[in-house]
Amino acid sequence: AKSAGRNSYQFFTQEMNLTVQARLVLESDLRTALERDELMLHYQPQIDLKSGDVVGVEALLRWRHPVRGAVAPDVFIPVAEDTGLILSIGEFALKSACEQLALWISQGLGPLRMAVNLSARQFKQSNLPSLLADILAATGVAAHLLELEITESSAMDDPNSAILHLRTLREMGVKLAIDDFGTGYSSLSYLKLFPVNRLKIDRSFVRGIDTDSEDAEIAAATITLAHNLGKEVVAEGVETEAQCRFLKGQQCDILQGYFFSEPLSAAGIASYLAANRRP
Ligand code: C2E
Ligand code: CA
Ligand code: CA
Ligand code: CA
Repeated sequence: AKSAGRNSYQFFTQEMNLTVQARLVLESDLRTALERDELMLHYQPQIDLKSGDVVGVEALLRWRHPVRGAVAPDVFIPVAEDTGLILSIGEFALKSACEQLALWISQGLGPLRMAVNLSARQFKQSNLPSLLADILAATGVAAHLLELEITESSAMDDPNSAILHLRTLREMGVKLAIDDFGTGYSSLSYLKLFPVNRLKIDRSFVRGIDTDSEDAEIAAATITLAHNLGKEVVAEGVETEAQCRFLKGQQCDILQGYFFSEPLSAAGIASYLAANRRP
């Protein structure tokens, strides 16, 4: 059983349907990952297009498996979702992100906003507002500095109750963003009703904006639509100068991607800010 278990590790790093056995191993390892301190956050800078300044970061989970090394979130987040482990893992992410933000602010690295991904299950959980209130109070982070990213598909799964959940969160003063915009089956009429501050254009569209006329049309239309609805636009997965130029021409608000920086450790962000912040 041990060697079969070891073999099944090879599946962890691949984006594929895990075999039943690999999945069971992954699941039981994930159960202990939190208590063994194997999960941590990395942070990717978000750049304001007009000022060129770093205005925030997105927190992204990392799992350093003792045997396998790094396991990609695209592999373990879906398992965490299915098993319900995402609730404790998501709480860990929210708490760690706010603690880190408070630390950066106390070190004079603010103003800075922290974006945190919320899974569909977390978003629907009825105690989310009280959990958030507790974390904000405990860390002293101002609500408006926290941005919650909800994927388009989790918002559209039950759009009417999503509107209610979003409203509650918005009333707490936190910022809200629709993540992976364009990949789901969003009805544009709902977009108007979602009380969110920002849309994040999925990187699958950003990839082709300078080479594929359809991607360019979709990105341009999304930016216009968002602005007409009073929302800001974040483009994710920006990798080239040509993509930046296009997005600038379309008046996109915020850029995020390897062109600026990959996700960095907390210490990496402090150095990045020291090197890239306007004086
Ligand atoms: P996402 O929320 O869409 O996050 C953006 C992903 O794009 C990240 O992958 C990031 O590293 C990657 N990325 C950033 N810039 C570029 C670029 O220029 N080019 C390319 N090719 N990729 C870029 P990552 O960190 O592997 O995370 C994958 C997904 O896992 C996230 O997608 C999100 O859906 C999920 N995830 C990560 N952390 C959390 C979390 O704390 N909670 C939840 N619920 N989901 C999370
Ligand atoms: Ca995200
Ligand atoms: Ca995204
Ligand atoms: Ca994604």
